[in-house]
Amino acid sequence: MSQPPIRAIIAPVTPLQQNCTIVWCAKTMKAAVIDPGGEVQRLMGGLQQHGLTLEKIWITHGHLDHAGATAQLKALTGAVIEGPHRDDAPLIAGIPESGARYGMPDAQAFEPDRWLEDGDRVTLGETEFEVYHCPGHTPGHVVFFNREARFAQVGDVLFQGSIGRTDFPGGSYPQLIAAITGKLWPLGEDVAFVPGHGPMSTFGRERQTNPFVSDEALSEG
Ligand SMILES: [Zn+2]
Ligand SMILES: [Zn+2]
Repeated sequence: MSQPPIRAIIAPVTPLQQNCTIVWCAKTMKAAVIDPGGEVQRLMGGLQQHGLTLEKIWITHGHLDHAGATAQLKALTGAVIEGPHRDDAPLIAGIPESGARYGMPDAQAFEPDRWLEDGDRVTLGETEFEVYHCPGHTPGHVVFFNREARFAQVGDVLFQGSIGRTDFPGGSYPQLIAAITGKLWPLGEDVAFVPGHGPMSTFGRERQTNPFVSDEALSEG
């Protein structure tokens, strides 16, 4: 057995219990924080505790609970911000306003070092993740996938037993279903995923049991 290329810990942040993840290359101990919605000091503590160097900040989409502390984490570490897709730029610009409304007055807007496109790759130490543009919950939502580890971080596209809300401005139910079935399912039933909120699952389990996107639910159309 070879060593798994990556390790990950999930740190739910903000009152919305958003699944911020610290993921790292097991060889180089270089880390990425995916979706730093808040609680930067706790995230810094987690990095330190595991002896990690923060290299990247990856953003699935521009909602406050996923991206609200990106600017603070960048200021503290100088890490490179990658993602989301540029169609979420208006949401990111609106972070201070939504932060004020939802009791997170420290939340700031930011400019990613790199906007991501469907099919892009992002590196972390000696491993890499594939990027899939999955609009529907927000227009610029992306998903990160490590093929070797069979691991994905899908933000608010898909949950255990549910799917992302599509009633926000720019949301689209048909786009979301198309992204899940057309981009996530082909990655394989064995892929384990961290959703934006709640427990982990696998694509195979959701294809069997998810009331919105199981093969059976969709065939009833
Ligand atoms: Zn969201
Ligand atoms: Zn969320």
